[in-house]
Amino acid sequence: MKDKIDKKWLISCRDASLGYENKAVLEHLDFEIREGEYVCVIGENGSGKSTLIKSLLGLLKPVSGSVGINREAGKGAVGYLPQQTQVQRNFPVSVMEVVLSGFLNDMHFRPFYTKKEKQEVRKHLQHLGIADLEKKCYGELSGGQQQRVLLARALCAADKILVLDEPVTGLDPVAANTLYESMELLHQEGMAIVMVTHDLKNAVKYADKILHISDNGYFFGDVEQYKTSEYSKIFLS
Ligand code: ADP
Repeated sequence: MKDKIDKKWLISCRDASLGYENKAVLEHLDFEIREGEYVCVIGENGSGKSTLIKSLLGLLKPVSGSVGINREAGKGAVGYLPQQTQVQRNFPVSVMEVVLSGFLNDMHFRPFYTKKEKQEVRKHLQHLGIADLEKKCYGELSGGQQQRVLLARALCAADKILVLDEPVTGLDPVAANTLYESMELLHQEGMAIVMVTHDLKNAVKYADKILHISDNGYFFGDVEQYKTSEYSKIFLS
């Protein structure tokens, strides 16, 4: 019988090979991400991190095996914070509008946002300490403020899992720390976090588990195991 205190799985990869048009970039991945876990995804450029994220989000079908989000987690369990592009940085709309767009999937052609959605946006902005930015133009904010706005946007879609693709890249250390603290707060409240990062120092500080992918295979396991593994040697030395 399943242990009752065992946390439910949210994302699973079962002997999954991931890639494009039948060419696998990552092979035989086998792991589960459970409720409330904080997992950092590490790997060199070109190792397949984006391919993995696209597959986890269901945007890319596995070449073989299976990848899936637990249906019991419910529709709208996942919120996604993509890598920022220059175009997005200069987006000439208000913070309120950017965060509200996190609800786009739920609108079903309804041409307006509801009062409840606006209240929800204010709740997320407040929670992330940026309530005062609501009426500001997104394009005029600092990089760190923009990332917190995008985190609030992802929260509109997420109740169980946040998937973040290099959220601190390009931020100064103070802004990066503020973002880490926001994510840690969400994690402590029970949100599962899957974060692609090159910042290994903070990955081992905050994460419960590390998924390190490389040309020769992958590591998935607890941070403490990771620190003593062969995989960490190049990155942590
Ligand atoms: P990372 O995010 O770790 O930098 P990617 O997942 O972007 O790595 O890329 C992994 C490999 O997949 C690379 O060899 C890349 O050239 C290839 N790749 C990425 N996107 C595509 C695509 N749309 N079609 C075919 N190959 C791709």
